[in-house]
Amino acid sequence: MLSDLIGADALVLLLFFFVISVGSFVVWLWALIDSISRPDWAYERARSNKMLWIILNIFLAPITSLIYLFAIRPQVRAAEAGAYSQPGQVAAASVGVAAPLPRFCGRCGSPVPSGAAFCGRCGQALASPTP
Ligand SMILES: [Zn+2]
Repeated sequence: MLSDLIGADALVLLLFFFVISVGSFVVWLWALIDSISRPDWAYERARSNKMLWIILNIFLAPITSLIYLFAIRPQVRAAEAGAYSQPGQVAAASVGVAAPLPRFCGRCGSPVPSGAAFCGRCGQALASPTP
């Protein structure tokens, strides 16, 4: 056993440094890959700079990796997500498609807008749209 050669305390210490170094390597790699994969415009929206963070993540890791993952990444991610999902607009668009039923003038038969009070062609007063 290795513990017989160097002692249990040394082994725990060795394991501790091993976990730290592997951990910081994973954080470094994660931050680097993440910073590269995000689009330029998402950084711009988050008032940041993609090139800057890639360079910082390569050369000043793991300190900058942690700063990136905890401070910059959430902002860039939010900026990226905000461009794709705008629930308010989607809801309004689907209502707009479904709401207006076709209406026609009772006198001349020409199509009239749903909110109109009079026919645009013959001037016939139209019944108010019943909901
Ligand atoms: Zn009419």
